[in-house]
Amino acid sequence: MMSNAVKQEQPTSTGRPFALDPLFRRVTDLAGIGPRNAALFEKLCGGDKMLDLLWHKPIDFVDRRFAPKIKDAPAGRIATLTVTVHRHFPNERKNQPYKVWCTDETGTINLVFFHANKQWLEKQLPVNATVIVSGKIEHYQGKPQITHPDAIGTEEDRAAIETVEPIYPLTQGLTNKVVCKAAKGALGLIPELPEWLDEAHKKQNNWPDWSEALDILHNPPGANGLEPHHPTRMRLAYDELLANQLALAMVRHHQQRRQGRVYKTGGALRDKLLATLPFELTGAQKRSIAEIDRDMSEPIRMLRLLQGDVGSGKTVVAALAMLNAIESGTQAAIMAPTEILARQHLESLGPWLDECGIRYVALTGRDKGKAREILLEQIRSGAAQVVIGTHALFQESVEFADLGVAVIDEQHRFGVHQRLMLTAKGKGVDVLVMTATPIPRTLTLTAYGDMDGSKLDEKPPGRQSIDTRLIAKEHIEQMTDGLARQIKTGARAYWVCPLVEESELLDLAAAEERYEILQARFGDRVGLVHGRMKPAEKDEAMAKFAKGDLDILVATTVIEVGVNVPEATIMVIEHAERFGLSQLHQLRGRVGRGADKSYCFLVYAKNPGQTAKERLSIMRETEDGFKIAEKDLELRGAGEILGTRQSGLPVFKLAELPAHSELLAAARDDARLIMGKDPELQTDRGKSLRTLLYLFERDQAIAYLRSG
Ligand code: ADP
Ligand code: MG
Repeated sequence: MMSNAVKQEQPTSTGRPFALDPLFRRVTDLAGIGPRNAALFEKLCGGDKMLDLLWHKPIDFVDRRFAPKIKDAPAGRIATLTVTVHRHFPNERKNQPYKVWCTDETGTINLVFFHANKQWLEKQLPVNATVIVSGKIEHYQGKPQITHPDAIGTEEDRAAIETVEPIYPLTQGLTNKVVCKAAKGALGLIPELPEWLDEAHKKQNNWPDWSEALDILHNPPGANGLEPHHPTRMRLAYDELLANQLALAMVRHHQQRRQGRVYKTGGALRDKLLATLPFELTGAQKRSIAEIDRDMSEPIRMLRLLQGDVGSGKTVVAALAMLNAIESGTQAAIMAPTEILARQHLESLGPWLDECGIRYVALTGRDKGKAREILLEQIRSGAAQVVIGTHALFQESVEFADLGVAVIDEQHRFGVHQRLMLTAKGKGVDVLVMTATPIPRTLTLTAYGDMDGSKLDEKPPGRQSIDTRLIAKEHIEQMTDGLARQIKTGARAYWVCPLVEESELLDLAAAEERYEILQARFGDRVGLVHGRMKPAEKDEAMAKFAKGDLDILVATTVIEVGVNVPEATIMVIEHAERFGLSQLHQLRGRVGRGADKSYCFLVYAKNPGQTAKERLSIMRETEDGFKIAEKDLELRGAGEILGTRQSGLPVFKLAELPAHSELLAAARDDARLIMGKDPELQTDRGKSLRTLLYLFERDQAIAYLRSG
């Protein structure tokens, strides 16, 4: 499966400074954490190393430093009291509380326990002993009490109890107490590390040292300690963003430094292709091609991001870039994240390449045995001038005679690492990365760094705007009636079913249910595709829809970005409120590709909430993917965009975007400066920065330094 490519283990690094070792130990090394808890920690923190624990940020805190006398303890406030146990009042009936009466020189207070364990209480709270109890003060029938104190201890425990206790996000099975204790344990392992920040920058911002920052993070000094703009959180976020930007800058710097090749641009093959195209290039396409030509004709290596909405015409731009390489006698490769998309490229590029007399092959994971051997041989010998494929192109067995340009149709699913693997298959390979998902500028920076960019911000002519409507779920029947009328006139519709979080199975159930309902009405003109089908079955259903043998295609979100059925003019999205805007935009982009008027129906469930309503209205107002992406970031934050985890965009643990956008820009500038002054990271700061890269596991970039 394609998704494996993304999850691939990073090679374990050998050069990591020993000082960092404790941070990379598993949480099971802490007292009291066994394998079961470790699994829960992994779920909670996204990893089971000490570092993952240290980067798990508290969301609140309880201040137990308020230690009044009983008479001064106001109701509703957390207090830590020093009291003498006077008497136990065990409950007589099961549903009554067990009370322990305590005193100090100013008054009395009851400690109240439901479902009490008498023995345990007698041990914890022996009569006449002086104890420390902490919890929320309540007044019951005019008398102070604490129900289930959070902490009970002796005089010796005072320092441990009278603290500010962080409150962490939790997961079922892990209590805050356990997380606190583990975090404390991990804090005890923090080594002294050399400072990697620019001293002046750090001082100017009033940022603490790294180890101090972690300490403060887990012992928030007050409510403002939880804000993204607290100096502690800023510092830690900056570290993470700097590691991200520096790694990207290093890759870029060292790629560009290697000799790029000089290609002949705009030659006879291009003329031939342009002459056969049934359309004129848009202004944006011409501009992008000119930018690509400039990169390719210079002896630097191209590393360019081509951003453009679905349907903006990226394929032809890619084709023209590839022709440059072929014209100069080298090979070109284009790689898509899925088989369906690879095939789509084959279908759109094939006829053009035929027209130009160019030999090409397609290689995917499905090619096996003898057939695969033949394809590999054609790639190795150079007989294949263009190779169209999936991540199968990364495999070691794939050798190119002379790869000149690699086009990566990324759609977010490949990481920097994968990109590098493909470019390693040639000498000075030029790279064009294409993405169909408009990403806000901020996030582009995190995924691509300072990569050069070209934008296709102009739709090919003749496209009609898509009539987008919000439909309340109660009205789904009427909408279906309308759909039936459209289908009678030959329309074809996608029907995307709700995304049920974290449950592919539930997704599937919902889609199947809808499929049955529609089948009852439209018979065998309805098809179904979902993620659990075999690729061949999926393809078959898609192909039937493309051919017109199906009128309605019910799908979970597996219908791939870029799938091209120009005759489809209707997109129904159920539970639209559960999707991210960018996702909705992607889905909507599957219609409006032909000459006919297209519709998108966003069906929302009862009471979607204010933000959800607002978000859906944006879909009605604009079709500009960039605008939509910015709005999405603003309304939901980076973590939610595109389901970041699957998207291939980096997931940050300390940095919060968009709150830390300015830090990101600063980190980019910092990284650029560092590459300008100390590209091999040889200075003192450079060496400390290496530590930073290891800390954030961005040390792949360090391999560049060694291999030079
Ligand atoms: P993308 O990959 O950006 O989603 P495609 O490259 O698949 O978009 O293009 C979508 C459709 O638009 C294709 O059918 C393509 O042939 C057509 N197309 C591309 N450029 C133009 C243009 N300048 N004028 C008209 N149609 C175009
Ligand atoms: Mg495309």
